Parts: sequence; structure tokens; C-alpha cells
Amino acid sequence: MTPRPTARPRTAGHRIAIGFALLLSLLSGAAAASGDVELSVDAAFRQLEDAELVGSYEDYRRAFKALGERLDANDAAQQERYRRLGCWMQPEQSLDQINTAIDNATQWINRAMARDDRLGQADYLLCRGWFEEIAGNYKPALRDYEAALAVAEGAEDRRLIADALSARGELLALQGDLAQALSDLQVAHQMYHLIGNRYWTAYTLSMVANTYRRMGDFDRAKELLQEVIEIYAKRDDKESADSTRFMLALTYDDLGEYDAAYAIYRDMLAQESQQGLERAKLGTYIAIADNRLRAGDVAAATEALDRAEPLLDPSLDALNLALWKLFKANQLVAVGDHTSALQLLIEAEPVVAEQDQHRYLAWIQKLKAEVLGQLGRWQTAYQALSEYQRTHEMLLEKLRDQTSTRMRIEFDAARKDAENRALKSERDVRQAKLQYLEERKRWQGLLLACSVVILFTLALLAVRQWRRSHRLRHLAMTDELTGLPNRRSIYQSGKETLAQCRAEGDDFSLLVFDVDYFKRINDTWGHEIGDRVLQKISDAAASCLRKHDVLGRTGGEEFLVTLPSADLESASDVAQRLCETIADIDLRDVADNLSVSVSVGVAQCQKGDSDFSHLINRADNALYRAKDRGRNCVALDPEST
Ligand code: GH3
Ligand code: MG
Ligand code: MG
Repeated sequence: MTPRPTARPRTAGHRIAIGFALLLSLLSGAAAASGDVELSVDAAFRQLEDAELVGSYEDYRRAFKALGERLDANDAAQQERYRRLGCWMQPEQSLDQINTAIDNATQWINRAMARDDRLGQADYLLCRGWFEEIAGNYKPALRDYEAALAVAEGAEDRRLIADALSARGELLALQGDLAQALSDLQVAHQMYHLIGNRYWTAYTLSMVANTYRRMGDFDRAKELLQEVIEIYAKRDDKESADSTRFMLALTYDDLGEYDAAYAIYRDMLAQESQQGLERAKLGTYIAIADNRLRAGDVAAATEALDRAEPLLDPSLDALNLALWKLFKANQLVAVGDHTSALQLLIEAEPVVAEQDQHRYLAWIQKLKAEVLGQLGRWQTAYQALSEYQRTHEMLLEKLRDQTSTRMRIEFDAARKDAENRALKSERDVRQAKLQYLEERKRWQGLLLACSVVILFTLALLAVRQWRRSHRLRHLAMTDELTGLPNRRSIYQSGKETLAQCRAEGDDFSLLVFDVDYFKRINDTWGHEIGDRVLQKISDAAASCLRKHDVLGRTGGEEFLVTLPSADLESASDVAQRLCETIADIDLRDVADNLSVSVSVGVAQCQKGDSDFSHLINRADNALYRAKDRGRNCVALDPEST
């Protein structure tokens, strides 16, 4: 579980070593990396372990620190998982820091071995190897990577095997063992792809490309690097895209497209200047010096070398320093200072040889022969020239290497195959998705139909319920026999009308009337006839009334009429008309010799009337008076006059 964050491409420059790692670690420190949503602790771990966090190395450090604050102190496994990540997060800004990191890693390796934690052991070995590598100690670094690979293979852990292979592959490529490097990187790439680690899949592909470049297959390298840059761009992973673009620039240099490379370098330089990353510029200046020398632009090369000089730290940048000396020597030769140039070449040669930088070694040897020739030291010049020839032969031999050529072809074929498979599975996924969408649409249609039916049913039920309650309400308020408002209804509407008239300062009067000698009718003609008479009376009474007057049956043969806007006089007119109309009812269709009359009491609302029933009382009293006067007549409430 090697996090090796995005901003830490160890192979970014065989010629720039730590300078570039530093550049990237400082670049775009402002990039928002962790996002706003807080991940679960496990997801936060995985994000760092799988290098899924898009951002600079500083962003990784920040996320790592934040994760540390969320750990469960009682969870030993979690603590150990954090320590493993932490190994990779150790600072590497100075040789002291790197040595501390190596010491720590050694302790952790030993502890992991003591508790038989093979995965931890492999991971810490890789971590220590990485710090050895950035310190320039390639031999112990390679030893650690190989040991880690053996342990990871024993434990059959694919992720760690891929990590170990990619680490070893990068280092071997750096040392010029291109065939073995290519094999490691290809296998690592395919394993990362298999386990779905997106960052490392892309990263190892860029390493494969870089190895192609070193093998001299510049066109293929360019293609692959452009592919990788696109992958990073899609993920908005600017840091990784930039470091890959740097490799692309190196490829342009190899292709002789110096200006294209120079444009990238200058772009990087502009970014570094903008962010005030003075120290980070070292690697870029060295690359520019190289680029300008090859392009024959000695003036620009000289400027880059002058600017790089104060940034060089001999304790950290051994290779950079050696390259600087080589380029400086080139520049000195151009101005005719052969003696100083020779001195620099002699200093640079062992460092470059030690790190197996054969191409630069060849350059040094060739230049040395030239300088020695210029100085008239023919014998040493001849020696240097034959050394150059040997190195050159070796390089050619590497490029001619049948194994690596075959591997390149096989790798490309395998990738094509994987691509086709990916395309097919993408098609399958699309198909399945389409099917799913169609099915969903069907279900949605069904659901919609069901909803409509349910809603319709509910509406129907609601209407029915409303009708029912309306009917019940109507029944509760209506007199069954006459269809008139019953007592409750007329009292209620009467009260409301009275209140309204009072509020508007309008008159309001009441009539109560009672059928005369109704008991006798029942007794003589029977109850049914009595009922029909009551119906006739209610019809006749209704015919005497205005639109706003309301007639109701308040009890057996008693009725009430509310007369809004009527004073006592007009109410008494209505009463009179009512009395006469009822007396004139033609009852021949009901029974022979049957006649009927009513007595009516009239009252008008006065200021003193406290409520509706008070007014009714007064009308009732008037009614009794009418009965007393012999019936079939109207009596007025004396208080109303
Ligand atoms: P008065 O002139 O004093 O009002 O005499 P009355 O006979 O009308 O008065 P009373 O109160 O003695 O009798 C009322 C009768 O009305 C008694 C009751 O049987 C009858 N009655 C009450 N409700 C109904 C009804 O719905 N249908 C019929 N057919 N008779 C009813
Ligand atoms: Mg009565
Ligand atoms: Mg009566």
C-alpha cells in the first residue's frame, strides 16, 4: 500500500533528481485538494493510499495530518495503517531529513518483521528504498526494492508486487537497464490496471513511455505521454499532467524538436516564477541549458546555467551538479575556455558514470576528447575518444536489444487487446444501462397509471363522502313532512339574519303561527289527512312570502317566518295575507268539508331584544293573544308597536 503521491514522480528527470520532486512539492500548494465533503476514515485512508487525491504533495501532507486527528486511539490496526502511510509522508527537503526518514523506515521494517507482518515489511522496505533513491544511493535503494518484491510475492499481494515492480522499474530505467526496467514497468502497469488503481496505472504508463524514450523510440514515447497527459487532464490532476509534460519536453529534445521542448520549459519556469519557487527552478534551468545547447543557442544556455548555479546544493543535487558542469563545459568550449571546461568535465564524469547515465557519459567523453585535442594533449584525447566509442557502442547495443523490441511490441499488442476489451465492456455497460433505463421507463409508466387510478378513486370517494355528508346535513336541517327548514335550521338562519340586520341597522320581524284546532282535524279525519293538511299549509304559507323571508316548521303544527328588512307594519301585512291565504286553502282534494285556519303572532325586533329567542317569546305571546281572540287572526306584540 504505497501512497507515493502524485506529486512525487521519482523518474521525472534522471538529470534533475530531487530538484524536480521539490519543484512539484512546492508547485500549486494552493490547490484545493481535500474538498469540502468529509470522507469516512476508511475512504480518507484509501484516497491517500491509492493516490486518488488530486493535488500537490503538500495537499497530501495536509490530508494526512487531518486524517491523523480522526484516528481511533484504541484501534491498533488503524494506527499501523497510518504509520505505513506516514513513512511516505516524511519530509525530504534536506539530506538530514532524508537520513532521518531512512532511519525511521529501518526501525519500522524491523518491527514489522518481528511481528511477522509481511505486508508492512514490504511497504516499509519500499519506503526506505525510495528515500535512499532520492538521496542518490541507488544501490541500497535497489536492494530494498528487490527485498520488498520478494516479500510481496511471498505474500501474494498484488498491490505491493505492483508497487515494488514499478519502483524497481523506475530505478533500473534511471540506471540504463532498459530491458529489465521495461519489463517491470509493463507488468506493474498491467497489475495496477487489473486492481483498478487509476493513478498508478497512468503513472506507470508514463514510465513505460519514458523508457521507450530512453530506448530511442521517441515517437511512441511521445504518443503515450500525450495519452497520459490527457488522462490526467480529464481528472483535473494538474500536477501529474505537468510532470508528464516535462517528460514530453525531454522527448521533444530527443526528437530534435527543441523549440517545442523549450516552450514547455519556459511555461514551467513562468509558473515557478509566478509562485516564487526559486529553488524549484533548478531542474528547469538545467533542462533549459541542455535544450539550448543542443539547439545551438549558447546565449540562452549560458543564462540558464548562471541562474541555476546559486540554486545548486552539492549535498543533494550531485547529479544535477554534474550535469550543470557538463553543460557549463559546453558553454566554455563555445567561448574558447578549454582549460576550465576540461576541469569541469573531469569533475562531472565519475558522478555521471556512477549513476549509469550513459548518454551523458558519452557526451562528456566526446567533449573531453575534443577539449583535450584542442589543448594538444593527443594521447589522453585519444583515450577519451575510445572511452566515448565504448560507451556509444553500449548505447547502440541497448537500442538494438532484440528483447526490448519484442517486449515493446508485445506490450503494445496487450494494451490494444485490453483497450478492445475495455471498449467491449463499455458497450456492454451501455447496453445494460439502456435496458435498465427502458425498464425504468416502463415501471414509471405503470406507476403513473396506478397513481392516476388511485387519485381518481380517491377523488370519487371524496365527492361521494361530500355528497353524503351534504345529504345528511340537509336531512338534519330539513323537516321531512313539509320539506321546510326544521326548528334547528330556522333558528340558526334566523339568528344569523337577525345579527346581520342589526349590524346594518335594518328592521327584522318574526311571525309565529299555529294551526287552529288541529287536534280536531286529526281526530276527525285521521293523522294522515292531518299530515296532508300540514303540507298544504306550508305550501300556501310559502306562496305569501318574499325571496328573503324564510319559513320553517318549528314543531307539530307550529311554524315560524323570519322577515328581514320588515318593520311591524309590513310584517303584520304579511301575517294578514298569510292568515287569509291559509283560510282560503282549497282542501276538497284532501277531504270533504275540511277547512283550516291559523293564528299568527307578530313581533318586531327592538333595541332591547337580547337575542333571537327573546324575540320568539314575544311573538309567541302575541300568538296566544290571537288564540284568545278566537283564532284565525293576527295579533301584534304590544312591545313592538
Ligand atoms: P289550538 O287551536 O289551541 O292550537 O288547538 P289544537 O288542537 O291545534 O292544539 P293542541 O296542542 O291541543 O293539539 C295539537 C295537535 O297536533 C296534537 C297532535 O296530535 C297534533 N300533531 C302534532 N304534530 C302532528 C303531525 O306531525 N301530524 C299530525 N297529523 N298531527 C300532529
Ligand atoms: Mg299547537
Ligand atoms: Mg294548534
